Amino acid sequence: MSSPAGNLLKIDFKKVDWQEELSNNVTTLDELNEFLPLSGEEQKSLEEVVERHPMNIPRYYLSLIDPNDPEDPIRKLAMPSADELVVAGSMGETTQDPYGDDKHDKGNGILHKYPYSALIVATEYCAMYCRHCFRKRMVGLPNKQTVESFNNAAKYIAEHKEITNVILSGGDPLMLPTPILKQMLDTLRDIDHINYIRIATRVPVVFPMRLFDKELLSYLKEFNREKAVYVPTHFNHNREITSVATDAVQALREAGITVNNQAVFLRGVNDSPDALEDLMNGLVRIGVNPYYLYQCMPVSRVRHHFQVPLKEGIDIVNEAKSRLDGYAKRFKFIMGHDIGKIEICGRDGNKLVMNQIHSRPDHPEEASKVLIRELTDNAGWFDDLPE
Ligand code: SF4
Repeated sequence: MSSPAGNLLKIDFKKVDWQEELSNNVTTLDELNEFLPLSGEEQKSLEEVVERHPMNIPRYYLSLIDPNDPEDPIRKLAMPSADELVVAGSMGETTQDPYGDDKHDKGNGILHKYPYSALIVATEYCAMYCRHCFRKRMVGLPNKQTVESFNNAAKYIAEHKEITNVILSGGDPLMLPTPILKQMLDTLRDIDHINYIRIATRVPVVFPMRLFDKELLSYLKEFNREKAVYVPTHFNHNREITSVATDAVQALREAGITVNNQAVFLRGVNDSPDALEDLMNGLVRIGVNPYYLYQCMPVSRVRHHFQVPLKEGIDIVNEAKSRLDGYAKRFKFIMGHDIGKIEICGRDGNKLVMNQIHSRPDHPEEASKVLIRELTDNAGWFDDLPE
């Protein structure tokens, strides 16, 4: 007799209608229980978790989970865990907003941190609510940071001629209906000082069927002829690089779009040289550029179970890099800090060597600054490192 988990494997996800499929997402613990049986105790503790941080798992992504392996990395990315109840645990203090989004919020969904880039929070909805998300405080929840009037957001961008590129982000902007996305992009295309657009999306990884929408892809292809479109995406594990995901990436590449990967370094998911080596080689194989590997931020309800100490982390990353060819090791190991992005370059004994790769508008002296800090065994974030 076939099981619900076994039945998922029979679905041809290359042929489903994306909007219809979205309505099949698993959003309650009772539904999840059918695929990944939960003990009574587990169900009880997870109820508290999903009340705070909703669950949303596409059937496609669920089909990638090994139901017999409680330590499965794909499961950890999708399924709520009682560890999410820990606000500040063994790794130390946490915050809701490590990247300083709130400080740079210009209202109406615009985050403007560096002069040249503006980010528009296009929606709070995602195809999946990743358990390690650094915007956990807002994804899937009512909030004041999502754009209310796109025309007013475009007006802000038009008035700030120093902005050369716009990031459509969220949530996941590709969850918006195609006609709405087209309207947004049409408006941005008409702003002369915008050189290129980024569409930040995890859809190729968690809900690739969105990219089989011919109307969207032919529009992006046409748009890309006038202004370049880049897609920063977010593969964390080699097992996410399936044949369906490969087809979705291929659809973007056929539209002339460059796809860059921004992985997050996560305990139990990709915290070994082998896992990173397989991920980066897998990305290059399908034409995705390894771009960033983010150190997991000190996000409340994420840090305790997902963050890897920097000392251990830099050794893992360097070991992986030593095995990779030049294209596969192009990624930077990064802390997305409030003061700007900080590249973690390497360590010399107990000294961690870093390079700040952006500066804030009021601190121009910080651009390209080399930072050296004492490395302790348990430090997981820049602020943990003594000067
Ligand atoms: S798709 Fe991105 S924004 Fe949405 S939950 Fe996942 S990591 Fe967060």
